[in-house]
Amino acid sequence: MATREPVECPVCREPTAQGQQLEDHLLESHSKPELASFVAAETTVPATGDPAD
Ligand SMILES: [Zn+2]
Repeated sequence: MATREPVECPVCREPTAQGQQLEDHLLESHSKPELASFVAAETTVPATGDPAD
């Protein structure tokens, strides 16, 4: 468990560099607006017809 497996970035689908944390990749490779729009798109709640609005 000494080495970390490269993680695929969910935003750009690129694997992170060897030993690089996904967080570091996100900070280095993606702007804040880019991350915001990605998270917003991912968290879009499908319309279920819930009357509690
Ligand atoms: Zn990325």
